[in-house]
Amino acid sequence: MEIKKGIGVSPGVVICTAVVLDAEDLVVPKRHVPAEELTREFERFGSSIASSVVDLTRLRDDVTGKHGKEIGGIFDFHLGILKDKSMITQVSKEIKTQSTTAEYAFTVVMRRYATTFSAMQDRYLSERVKDIYDIERRVLRHLIGEKHQDLLHLTQDVVVIAHDLLPSQTAALDRNRVKGFATDAGGRTSHTAIVARAMGIPAVVGLGNLTREVNGGDVVIIDGNAGVVIVNPDEDQLAEHRETEKRRLRMETQLATLVDLPAETLDGVIVSMQANIEFPAEIDDALSRGAQGIGLYRTEFLFLSSDVEPTEEDHYVAYAEALRRLKGRPLVIRTLDLGADKQSQHHQSNPERNPFLGDRSIRMCLHDIPMFKRQLRAIMRASVLGDVRIMFPMISTLMELRQAKMVLNDVMEELEDEGIAFRRDLPVGMMVEVPAAAIMATNFAKEVNFFSIGTNDLIQYTLAVDRTNEKVAGLFCPAHPSVLLLIRDIIRAGGRSGISVSVCGEMAGEPLYTLLLLGLGLNVFSMNGPDIPEVKKIIRSTTMEHAKTIARKVMSFDSERQVMHFLREETRKIIPEAF
Ligand code: PEP
Ligand code: MG
Repeated sequence: MEIKKGIGVSPGVVICTAVVLDAEDLVVPKRHVPAEELTREFERFGSSIASSVVDLTRLRDDVTGKHGKEIGGIFDFHLGILKDKSMITQVSKEIKTQSTTAEYAFTVVMRRYATTFSAMQDRYLSERVKDIYDIERRVLRHLIGEKHQDLLHLTQDVVVIAHDLLPSQTAALDRNRVKGFATDAGGRTSHTAIVARAMGIPAVVGLGNLTREVNGGDVVIIDGNAGVVIVNPDEDQLAEHRETEKRRLRMETQLATLVDLPAETLDGVIVSMQANIEFPAEIDDALSRGAQGIGLYRTEFLFLSSDVEPTEEDHYVAYAEALRRLKGRPLVIRTLDLGADKQSQHHQSNPERNPFLGDRSIRMCLHDIPMFKRQLRAIMRASVLGDVRIMFPMISTLMELRQAKMVLNDVMEELEDEGIAFRRDLPVGMMVEVPAAAIMATNFAKEVNFFSIGTNDLIQYTLAVDRTNEKVAGLFCPAHPSVLLLIRDIIRAGGRSGISVSVCGEMAGEPLYTLLLLGLGLNVFSMNGPDIPEVKKIIRSTTMEHAKTIARKVMSFDSERQVMHFLREETRKIIPEAF
């Protein structure tokens, strides 16, 4: 039995059999394979070599055609290694004698080759070590990629253990079979975590080296509330976690009775409860939890769930579906926020050194106007089907906002020329998620119809903490007084200019911050559907006056610890069972 502590990013407890996904570029852990399953490992090894030979032959012929035989010949060395009988015998022997997986056996043999080559006196030969790593990665990609494929055809319930999962991989998990996941890497507001919360499956991230300690088939408890993973638990632990889960489900049932009631404070102030989604299919669930509309539609997931860029029609179909499900309720469509941890296929092969500070989001759209226009055309066409609002992400300068609005105007003119219907008065808003925009909120407020505060990025950029890095996850804190000052000022700036302000970062769905945000004057909250009932309960259990008093007190603190301690105590006074 092994207990590992990480970051609980999606609540709930699940007890289930593990499937382990290794990362291609990491040391592959040694896993034990029972004797009766070894034949399958030999077969997997054989087919990964065969597929790699096919890839390489195609690559060699292609490169030879374009650049000549000499360059193409580089791949003959790779092909030579893959067809080498001695290599194949060595790997087969490792699988058999060590009772291990094809990927582990192959890695052991490739490391042996690498050591031999790098020890060679001849410079040309010693440099071949890089080719060995390249060959290793290619074959592992086949072996490990095959397991990712297997995940799409599960026949029993599992929990997924992985070094990391891309948001797109998470979104593609079979919701009927994958009951939870745990990863070595990641932070609370990484998009992988956000997707898990939206899917409503328990998840823990930032576990360090969990993948080395779990074998496929092990029984695992994933406790997303406590941020704990227990590998091969004993009877007491099983009983304890089953009990915790029962308690949580009881509370959920109680909260479900609030669905049709307004988020109204005891002194009659009404707050709008909106949901965040990645896919239109999430809308029904969000509505069933009390969402009054969609405050953030992360449209980039349309991109991430496919290998090719969506067409204008793909965008339009998705937006039309969302509006059909919403039946007149509002839909805030955020334009593509690609980049950083939401890489498109194209960018994965061209990694940036500092992707969160790089060609991300609105910057990427303004660098690729045809792509941007395809999306804007689809949004405008969909604008006649319901209450559509458009929102630009990651705006950091007024010029950027103006450029984005100019492209939108161009699109409107094009549509007009083509005789296509659209709503010219559609509200245009922006995310305030970069400190530069937060500090200049008054200026920005004059040029948009609404603000939505993206606390996930606002915290990351204000505190200089990568939101996906488990090593600094302890520093990522919404309660930091600098972040709270920015939020307060954005809400004030919006209020003075008469535009609406919402918060759509994860902070909006964290019960710890509900009283504070309410007291700062926030009246639109947008969060993952499953978070709505608890936040609503807090709003319904307090008065605006009380929330304002709490906010005033919080703003007098100078440390995040004081803020969190105070808010925890105050929230518990209202709802003793909170947290
Ligand atoms: C945010 O940054 O808070 C936000 C809502 O956007 P995303 O999490 O998609 O970056
Ligand atoms: Mg953001």
